[in-house]
Amino acid sequence: MAKKNFLFNTICSVCVTFFIFLASAPLITLAIPTTQFIQLAPISSNSQLVEKENLTAVLPETNTDLSIGINNEPEYDMFTYSERQERNLPTGLPATDPYYGNKIIYLTFDDGPDPENTPIILDILKENSIKATFFVLGTEVLKYPDILKRIYDEGHAIGNHSYNHIYRELYQSANTYTEQLHHTDEIIKNVLSVRPHISRAPGGSAGSFTKHYWDILKTQGYIEVGWNISSGDASNAKADQILSNIIHQTKNNNFLWSHAILLMHDGKGHTETVKALPHIITFYKEQGFDFHVINSKTPSAW
Ligand SMILES: [Zn+2]
Repeated sequence: MAKKNFLFNTICSVCVTFFIFLASAPLITLAIPTTQFIQLAPISSNSQLVEKENLTAVLPETNTDLSIGINNEPEYDMFTYSERQERNLPTGLPATDPYYGNKIIYLTFDDGPDPENTPIILDILKENSIKATFFVLGTEVLKYPDILKRIYDEGHAIGNHSYNHIYRELYQSANTYTEQLHHTDEIIKNVLSVRPHISRAPGGSAGSFTKHYWDILKTQGYIEVGWNISSGDASNAKADQILSNIIHQTKNNNFLWSHAILLMHDGKGHTETVKALPHIITFYKEQGFDFHVINSKTPSAW
C-alpha cells in the first residue's frame, strides 16, 4: 500500500511539475528575447530597455503587447565593436525571430542628418505621431550632432550609413567597409553614448558585397538593412513623382505588406522628399498601415 501511495505521489508530483511548466511556458517565452538582449544593454529612455533590472518596467501585461513593444522600439548597444573585444564580450548578435506583421511600413531616410531637411521631417513625423529610421553618415553627424540627438530623443531609430559614402574608398574590401562603420559608430557614440547595430550600405549591398562582407558584418554584430520600396528620390524626381512611385510599388507588391521598407533620403538637396512626406504618410495611414522602426526583429527586405 505504502509502495502504491509512493508511486501515486510520484506520478502526481511529476504531473504537477509538468502542469507548472506548461502554465509558465508563456512566461518563459516572454523571457527569451529579453535574456538574449541583456548583453546588448541599450540604455536609451526611448529604446527597449532590456537590462535585467528594468525588466518589470518594460514588460507589458499581455504577450501581444510585448511583441508590439519589442517590434517597434529602437535598439542600441552601449559598447562599440572594439570595446566589446577589449572587454571580451560577445560581438555577434543573438538570433531572433523576424516579425512579420499585418501592413507594417518602415519609413527610412538615408544620408543625413541635414540642417535643412531633417528638422522638417522630424516635425512632420511628430505631427503624425509616428516613428521612422535614419541611416546617418559619420561626416554629417560630425557637422550636426544636435540633429542626431533630436532624432534619438524623439524615439526614432538610428542606423550607420558609413563615414563618407565614397564608393571607391568604402568598397575596396570588407575591411575598408567595416572600418568606416567603426569610425561612424564612434562618432555616434560620442553624441549619444550608444551606438546602433543596424547599418545600410550606401547604394545597397547588391553588387558591392561579397560573402566576406556578410560574414564579417555578422561576426561584428551588424544587421545590414535593405529596402523593398524605392521612392526614387535619389534622381531629380518631383514630389508628385516620388509619391506616385511609392503608391505604385506598394499597391503592386502586397506580398511585402508584412514588412514594407521604404527608401527615402533626408540628405542635402532632398527638398522634394520633404514635400512628398505628408502625402506619403497619409497614403499609408489610409491603407491601414502601422509605422514601425527598424530593429533586430525587422525581416530582411527580400
Ligand atoms: Zn546613401
